[in-house]
Formats: sequence, C-alpha cells, structure tokens
Amino acid sequence: MKYIFVTGGVISSLGKGLTAASLGTLLEHRGLKIAIQKFDPYLNVDPGTMNPYQHGEVYVLDDGAETDLDLGHYERFTQCRLSRLNNLTSGQVYEKIISQERRGDYLGKTVQVVPHVTNEIKKRIREVASSSSAEVLITEIGGTTGDIEGLPFLEAIRQFALEVGGENVFFIHITLVPYISVAGELKTKPTQQSIAKLREIGIQPHALICRTERPLGKEVRQKISMFCNVPLEAVIEERDVEHTIYEVPLMLQREKLDEIVARRLRLPKRAARMAPWRRFVRRVISPKRKARIAVVGKYMDFQDAYKSIYEALTHAGAWHDCGVDVVNVDSEEVERRGAARQLRGVHGVLVPGGFGDRGIEGKIAAAGCARRARLPYLGLCLGMQVAVIEFARSVAGLRAANSTEFDATTAAPVISLLEEQRTVQQKGASMRLGAWPCKLARGSRAAALYKQRTITERHRHRYEFNNAYRRRFEHLGMVFSGVSPRNDLVEIIEIANHPWFVACQFHPEFQSRPNRPHPLFRGFLGAACAR
Ligand code: GLN
Repeated sequence: MKYIFVTGGVISSLGKGLTAASLGTLLEHRGLKIAIQKFDPYLNVDPGTMNPYQHGEVYVLDDGAETDLDLGHYERFTQCRLSRLNNLTSGQVYEKIISQERRGDYLGKTVQVVPHVTNEIKKRIREVASSSSAEVLITEIGGTTGDIEGLPFLEAIRQFALEVGGENVFFIHITLVPYISVAGELKTKPTQQSIAKLREIGIQPHALICRTERPLGKEVRQKISMFCNVPLEAVIEERDVEHTIYEVPLMLQREKLDEIVARRLRLPKRAARMAPWRRFVRRVISPKRKARIAVVGKYMDFQDAYKSIYEALTHAGAWHDCGVDVVNVDSEEVERRGAARQLRGVHGVLVPGGFGDRGIEGKIAAAGCARRARLPYLGLCLGMQVAVIEFARSVAGLRAANSTEFDATTAAPVISLLEEQRTVQQKGASMRLGAWPCKLARGSRAAALYKQRTITERHRHRYEFNNAYRRRFEHLGMVFSGVSPRNDLVEIIEIANHPWFVACQFHPEFQSRPNRPHPLFRGFLGAACAR
C-alpha cells in the first residue's frame, strides 16, 4: 500500500479537496485502484449541524454519514464509493477517546494528545487502508498548516510515514502564490513560510502545488524549489481554471504530477488515459445550446451551499450537449417581488433542499409559478415538500396547507414529521439519513427515466408527505411515482398534465457523475432544452 497525504498552507479555500480528487482521477486512469479520505480538524463530530454559510453543503453517503463536501468531489472524480470511515473529525476522535477513558480503558494512565489522539488518527488510516483493496490511499488533511487544531493530524501522519517507511509515502503541500499587481509580481514568501511550518513539525513535502492566477515562470519555480527544498519538476502550477473544475486533472497531468508521484512510489509506468474525460470536459466547455435554470434557494450568493446540485446540472448538461446557465434566485426576493418576475425567461425551475422557514413562501410561490406556467420543475427534498404544499393550497383548496416544520398547528398538515422522528431529541445524525430503496410506479416519468423498478437514493430529512392526503391528491392529478417499499413513504411525486414536473424526497444530486448523469437531472434538463 502506498500513501499520499495532502496538506494545505497560507489560506483556506485553495481547492485542496478538488486537487486530491483530481490526483485520484489521474491515478485511476493509470489503472490503479485508489481509496481516498478526509481528516477535518474541527471539533464537531460531523458537519451535519453546521450551517451552509459555515461549511457549504453537507454531503450524504450511502451509509447515512453526513460529511464534508470534499467527499462529493471524491465520489464524482473517482470510482470510490465512500463510507463513514472516509471522513474523520477531531470531534470523532475525542468522542471516542473520552468514552474509552470513562470506561476505564486507560486505567492508571494520563490520556494525552500524543500518543492517544495521534494513535486514533493513525488507526483510522490503517482501517481505511485495510478495508479497501486499494493500492494507493490518498488522505487530505483539512484546515491550514499552522492551525492549532490541525497539529495532531500532522504529527500523526509524520509518525505514520516513519512506521510504513518513507519510500511508501508521498507528501503534497498545496499553497498560494499570490500576484501583487502594484509590484507586478508573484510572491513566494507565504509559500516559504508555510513550508517552514511543515518542516518544524518534521514533514518535508515531495511536491508543492502552487495555486496561482498567473503562470509561474521559470524563475519563480526555481526560487520556490530552492527555498522549499523540493525538486524543480515537483513545483507544480495549478492555475484557476477557466471554465470548469473538471479541467483540473488535465491541468495536473500536463504538469506531470501523476508521473512524479508514480516514480517516487514505484507505481507502474502506464500513462493516464484521459481521452473520455477530455471529451466530457469539451462538452462542458463548448455545448451546442444553452438552457437557463433557476435555482430557488436562500444561500444564493454562496457557491458551496448547493455544490452537488450545480455539478449534477453540469453532468446532465454535458449529456444533452447543453450548457447550463444557473440563475440564482433568492427565495426571499421571490416573496418581495413575485415569482413570475423573478423567474422570467428561465427554461426550468429547481428548488433544492433546506431547513427552517426563512424564504419558504418564496419557494412555494416558485413551485406554483412553474406548475401554472408549465415550466419544467425539479424539486429536491424540501423542493418536493413545497411543491406538495403549493398543490394542496391551489389545486386541492386547502388554504391552510403547510408542513408542520413551519406551522406546527396547521389545519392541513400535508407534510408532517416522520413517525420515527417523534421521539428524537438529539440534533446530530438523527434525521432519516442515507440510502433507502424506492419502488417506482409503472408508466410513470420516473420509471421511464430510471429504466428500473427499484432504485436506491440518499436521504436527509425529518418531514415527509402525509399519506392521509394521498387519495385526494391522486384524484386531482398528482402522481405518486415512487414510494419506499417498507413503510410506504412517498419518495417521488409528479404532476400529470404538465410537461415535466417531478419532485423527490431524496437527494439525487449526490449520485450524479460526470459521464453518468442522474436520470432525474437528465430528464429535467431534457425538458428544459425542449423549451
Ligand atoms: N426540512 C425538511 C425536512 O427535514 C427538508 C430537508 C431537506 O431538504 N434536506 O424534511
């Protein structure tokens, strides 16, 4: 087994996750089996209780783990199917150690960061390594070098390298080389200092990935190489991509990152065959046509909040040879100005998941506008719930219809708390989470798109369609095209007599892949293109 560790310096948001995922892409295209995981130094047990402004989207895995959005990049860029083992936080490490201490596992001893915390971290690396049949394990360390909370992780990987032998380990450090326009120069000092910090801990990187807006140039590369004690060829330039993040693996291949890694780790010499990937990128960059898709949510100025949704739209777009212009529509703006005005000129409306009542009436209005204007509509999780509320109010005449999440005493609780949620007190990891099966109704749009009778999709919700209203809505033209086989929960609704109106209780965006767009996104975009 070979181990690659990816750390980051200078600032956060350098795209470490994307870079780690892209290296994974290259290694897989060289025919290697890889595994990939992320360590997050914060004290939350998982990001499930954080707000999207703090953390971006919460990415949900098959096993129900609520994880960092970088795991989304890992699954989209590689063939890996991840589990809760693949995202370790300080919160998990401490939770485990403290409960062991209370049980008496350390009787007589002082429990300390070194060796107890570092041992737990190393144990996780071994666990992920041994539970996969991979040849290479990539581990990304979240946070920025120099952060207090990141230290135990860096100490752990230093020790780990010693234990498995330096020749089996490759350290990559991602850094920022800023361009200072008044001086007209790229500056290397932050990089030097970041490397100094790493060396202080005892880690000497084997390659440096320099995030930059401008080409690095020979001199800058030489300077970085000398000051940071990294071979010249291992000073890798990673420019801001022009069009799409899917260019990153190609960019890193041009810089020979995979070759450098393969040489040191003595991996087979095969070149990465990137032709299919390149074709996909080309379709993303220069599509034949364009569609404008409104995404109606409340974190619109914040790219990371709906990450997987934007990616799923891109995948479906590439499939239809159609570029997607996302129109960010703030649902509170819809409340102020009206849906018709905010949605003018779009070819499709997508309402994503969400929690809490801020902007909820705007989302309901957007669903109503799409229904009446016969605009293709895709509702995801909360996006299904608002579509149901809208239908109840406007078509079934239930004026007071609402979700009990927003109005606990509503006279028409068309969306209500799941039975199993009634006794739940704790907030963390307590929703209906992860992959659950769903049976599709013959003849439905969903069945035609999936071309399957039973599907599995990932969930993250507490509320659910109230089956007491099913009959009545069915008579009025709502189609219940997907239900869970075990407890008869509504998973997908459609509206008959509408060009394309589909909404689901699960999150299809988590299973979309570049060359394998999700059926619902594919159908939605097809309908938007037709418009
Ligand atoms: N707030 C809703 C629920 O808990 C929807 C959740 C979501 O969109 N992920 O059911």
